[in-house]
Amino acid sequence: MTYTLQGSTGTWEIVCGLEVHAQVISRSKLFSGAATDFGSEPNSQVSLVDAAFPGMLPVLNEECVAQAVRTGLGLNAQINLNSRFDRKNYFYADLPSGYQISQFEQPIVGRGEVEVELPDGSARRIGITRLHLEQDAGKSLHDQDPSRSFIDLNRCGVALMEIVSEPDIRSPEEAGAYLRKLRTVLRYLGTCDGNMDEGSMRADVNVSVRHAGEPFRTRCEVKNVNSIRFVMLAIEAEARRQVEIWEAGQEVHQETRLFDPARNETRSMRSKEDAHDYRYFPDPDLLPLVLEQGWVARLKASLPELPDAKRARFVRDYGLTPYDAAVLVAEQSIAAFFETVASGRNARLAANWITGDFFAALNRTGRTIETSPVTAETLGALLDLMADGTINGRIAKEVFEAMVDTGAAPADIVQQRGLRQVTDTGAIDDAVNAVLAANPDKLAEYRSGKDKLFGFFVGQVMKAMAGRGNPALVNEALRARLSV
Ligand code: ADP
Ligand code: MG
Repeated sequence: MTYTLQGSTGTWEIVCGLEVHAQVISRSKLFSGAATDFGSEPNSQVSLVDAAFPGMLPVLNEECVAQAVRTGLGLNAQINLNSRFDRKNYFYADLPSGYQISQFEQPIVGRGEVEVELPDGSARRIGITRLHLEQDAGKSLHDQDPSRSFIDLNRCGVALMEIVSEPDIRSPEEAGAYLRKLRTVLRYLGTCDGNMDEGSMRADVNVSVRHAGEPFRTRCEVKNVNSIRFVMLAIEAEARRQVEIWEAGQEVHQETRLFDPARNETRSMRSKEDAHDYRYFPDPDLLPLVLEQGWVARLKASLPELPDAKRARFVRDYGLTPYDAAVLVAEQSIAAFFETVASGRNARLAANWITGDFFAALNRTGRTIETSPVTAETLGALLDLMADGTINGRIAKEVFEAMVDTGAAPADIVQQRGLRQVTDTGAIDDAVNAVLAANPDKLAEYRSGKDKLFGFFVGQVMKAMAGRGNPALVNEALRARLSV
């Protein structure tokens, strides 16, 4: 499915590459021992290194390096055993050293790839150009005082992974699917929590447009977009702006822009800076980073099962559709929930209940899988009650709603409310007779050839039995009675 924009001079295609900043999960910062907890008292987590006091020396945090390598492995990427840290020089109030330690020419991770599932069921591979480690900057607070700005350096020096994609993305939907997949992989790996609303994952969005088959045109970069929805909206808004410029016979100029969600438009922030503006050079305080192959291999061996592998296993071992499997592996906790419910039971039925009624209930009640009153064990018990014929499928829905409301075990709900399925054929025959007697006109119509009324009679009998009749037996009894 190709996504295009229609202009007055023809059809345009979007070209997009994303630079994602992902905050590394680690107890301390990239080059100092200061803590990294989110939401702490301003300036309570700042070492002398972070505050750039003269003479302070950075000391590389091994765990941050391991996290970057794990992430590279999870993105099927090249791990560079030799990499290097560079200084990227710029002045900003919340960057006390006047430079950011980053990696420029020799990043720790090279080319990789992410497989992305689209809502229409198709899949696409998005290339990863590189991943490098760098420090985050502090934060300027402009809303604390009418005449002054404050600086909070807690975030200063926290490790970030910058994950750069190839310009392989062709639509807002693909960008959204790519970010969701990336976030899933990072969460599985435990290398970034992916919380975009806390700023632990943010994206710079590079957009250009072209007619299909043309070489790439000039791009603009929309900085620091902090939700997946805004990334998708920003791409669309920026692409439309560029189409208008080209169609008016003008040129798009490379620049850095900001997305304004309130107006759903991007606006210019500054002209694009080039690498030479940053005067990159190797940081003289740090040795080149040399990794041992054996260390990388040990990290690789300790990785958890990743989403793609889990999805393939769910399709293979549980007979799920690729789409259902993709939905269930989106979060590790959901995948584990599913496996508990499916174990020893009908796995496709388990998947249907989880992606259907269970997710709907979570949405409706604002719960998560962790706080849900329905657990994997009680949902499994509900499936067992259906499998052994204690309740029918329709009553199961009612029992499920009671489980959502009360958190009670399904067997107790069935017991208390008298919801056991009726398999007593005498009781079923009585209900059938009563329904036929009460609907002589419908019965006549049926007998004169209106076969569709069979469903009506089934419904009436079930209703007469308060939904508790065994559907197969009800059908059988009706058929027997109507054929005479
Ligand atoms: P810089 O270092 O100046 O930001 P890069 O070449 O590293 O530039 O590219 C940054 C991002 O821009 C990458 O994600 C890349 O995929 C994307 N990109 C490059 N060229 C284009 C283009 N013509 N249109 C859209 N995105 C592009
Ligand atoms: Mg860039």
